[in-house]
Amino acid sequence: MTERRARDFIRAIVDEDLRTGRRSRIITRFPPEPNGFPHIGHAKSITLNFGLAMEYGGTCHLRFDDTNPATEDLTYVEAIKRDLAWLGYDWGENEFYASDYFETLYTWACKLISLGLAYVDDLSEEEIRAYRGTVTVPGRPSPYRDRSVEENLDLFARMRAGKFGDGTCVLRAKIDMAHTNMKMRDPLMYRIRHAHHYRQGDAWCIYPFYDWAHGQSDAIEGITHSICTLEFTTNRVLYDWYLDALAINPRPYQYEFARLNLGHTITSKRKLLRLVQEGHVSGWDDPRMPTLAGIRRRGVTPAAIRAFCEAVGTTKVDSVSDPDLLDHHVRDELNRKAPRVMCVLDPLEITLTNCPADHKEWLDAPYWPHDIGREGTRKVPFSRSLLVERSDFAERPPKGFRRLSPGAIVRLRHAYVIRCDAVVKNADGRVQKLLCTWFPNSRDGDGPKARGTIHWVDTQAALPVVVRLYERLFVAAHPDQNFVSQLNPASEVVLTNSRIEPSVAIDAPKTRYQFTRLGYFWRDPVSAADGTLVFNRIAALRDGWTRSAPKLETEPPKRRVAIPPLPAPQLSAVDQRWIAAQGLTDTIGRALVGAPEAKAFFEAAVAHAPAQPLGSWIVNRLLPLAKGSRLDALPFSAEAFGRLVNRVASKAASSHQAREVLATMVRTGGDPDALLLAKKASTLDDAATLRAIVGKLMDKYPDKVRAYRAGKRGLAGFFVGQVLKATHGAASPSATRVIVEEQLHQQTS
Ligand code: ATP
Ligand code: MG
Repeated sequence: MTERRARDFIRAIVDEDLRTGRRSRIITRFPPEPNGFPHIGHAKSITLNFGLAMEYGGTCHLRFDDTNPATEDLTYVEAIKRDLAWLGYDWGENEFYASDYFETLYTWACKLISLGLAYVDDLSEEEIRAYRGTVTVPGRPSPYRDRSVEENLDLFARMRAGKFGDGTCVLRAKIDMAHTNMKMRDPLMYRIRHAHHYRQGDAWCIYPFYDWAHGQSDAIEGITHSICTLEFTTNRVLYDWYLDALAINPRPYQYEFARLNLGHTITSKRKLLRLVQEGHVSGWDDPRMPTLAGIRRRGVTPAAIRAFCEAVGTTKVDSVSDPDLLDHHVRDELNRKAPRVMCVLDPLEITLTNCPADHKEWLDAPYWPHDIGREGTRKVPFSRSLLVERSDFAERPPKGFRRLSPGAIVRLRHAYVIRCDAVVKNADGRVQKLLCTWFPNSRDGDGPKARGTIHWVDTQAALPVVVRLYERLFVAAHPDQNFVSQLNPASEVVLTNSRIEPSVAIDAPKTRYQFTRLGYFWRDPVSAADGTLVFNRIAALRDGWTRSAPKLETEPPKRRVAIPPLPAPQLSAVDQRWIAAQGLTDTIGRALVGAPEAKAFFEAAVAHAPAQPLGSWIVNRLLPLAKGSRLDALPFSAEAFGRLVNRVASKAASSHQAREVLATMVRTGGDPDALLLAKKASTLDDAATLRAIVGKLMDKYPDKVRAYRAGKRGLAGFFVGQVLKATHGAASPSATRVIVEEQLHQQTS
């Protein structure tokens, strides 16, 4: 049997959970807040969550995390559902709303109050902020923190009953105002908002904060794998705290992956809303918008989006994808599917001087000229007056120009060879039309040799069409706070003078075409409604950006998707020197220089512990425990970690104890010394107690005692194990071993 290697770390986790029986089936969810239109970043989360459920025969829920009455709206709920269905996913019955859980959440909040784990705080918003401290300064407890359970229950009930005005007080979890993770400094759970909720109406005037509602909503729905983006890494500790405090079981576990970012655009709903509100775009579905509504209107197919999300992958490394990668998947699909037609964007008339004025012909032109054997043709009208692309003519052609110029011979696509004989100009010197010679036998291969092939349409029969060419929305690769000033003024070019072959009027309006030599287009669905012929360019044939974009920035284009660098087999001189200077072994040194984040963590901790054990603990203990979380987002500092390692190095703590303490720190933070002390206090190494336990066990297993006496010394380990079991692990293994051997020997002699 060949072992299947998971495609990404999330799938590896799911595989493992199913293999070990930790989960028998998986339930994921896509949890949008209905406060904006979904964008390409959401597509990543959607394809990941729904994709997982489909692959593993599980379920994916659509849950609206609608806890904020101020920003949410039914329009957004509908937009999200529309986009999800369009992307090809079906949530069936599993449509949920966090707001439907308000009552349960309220009950659970009361439970936390009863447990002394939540309190009503009257501090103002600014005061709460001031009391919270900073990353380096611990927070201070609110003067209301020690209210009695009864008082808190009463106040909270009155909050709900509408007895207080907006902002009078809040409900907070009572955790730790000095916690290294700021999220744990008594986070807010409820605020008062006398506001109308789009779904709950006026039923509530207190609303749960997202951080309180989110994890519990997952738990209510039985979500097994709560997948979210990296910025929620530090929130995980809090979500776990709530679930632990409420003793919810079984419970969801959260895993974080890197957001999908796209260069030359933005994926913040707040900023997108500003573009819409300030009229920089025509709406959420403007074809330049990175919203799924915009992308759809532009003509991109759901399959191309799914393929793009797949190609970007699921990693822990933040990266920015090149928009050309999305275009690549559009081309990849449409190259196989889109019939070819001809459209002239900027027409220049040509007269075939030797063609009779009444000559009219309908030529057969294949839709898929490159696919031998693929059926499908359309009729293309041909006569004495034709239109070609103005840019396909040059009076003084540059070297290698294989199109029209005085005297040049070219082929008209699917038609005849012509020669340009003369140029007609108007009064101000602009080229008005070309006079050409037609070679009527050239369709069958006779006639002069053409230099190149150009596209064209018939002047009389062609249809007027509006063509919209789209470029990147922003000139900046990474739009920042000044994004409005970084908009690309040429992101939409509307051509109103274009002409297209008449076949497109007959074909289904939904068809996506390749306009010969111009790119992939489709009929704008909004404009199509009133019968106007408007085509949007979905993607250029090749990357048009580098060729035609205004040179507004000097920044080099961003590399496609960042793939985490493989550890270089050959170390650079700088790295070699660094490893030697730290006094690290080659293995640990290489592991650290290969992971810049781990190296930074090492450097921040090395003042507090000897280098080699420190490096080894980072590589062998911390990184596996952190499971890919960012080290600087862990709920403890590098310094604290250094102190822990130092306790082991100086033999003040056993490696076993330190490992357990580290596991606690990774989960919930805390100070290593305090945790070690607590661990020691609960450690059983009192000789008299241990002797009593060992004595009982020897009475229980007389055979083993005899066997030991007969020389089976390995049985000492058996007794040590039994003591640990009997004391639920509290006994110190080393102290126990001493007592076990002492007792077994005593009875021998
Ligand atoms: P907000 O700041 O308004 O919360 P958001 O982009 O997080 O914006 P949500 O509606 O909360 O919007 O997102 C729904 C889900 O999509 C979340 O699980 C979120 O982690 C995920 N998501 C959002 N943006 C991206 C992105 N760029 N890449 C991958 N997943 C994303
Ligand atoms: Mg969000």
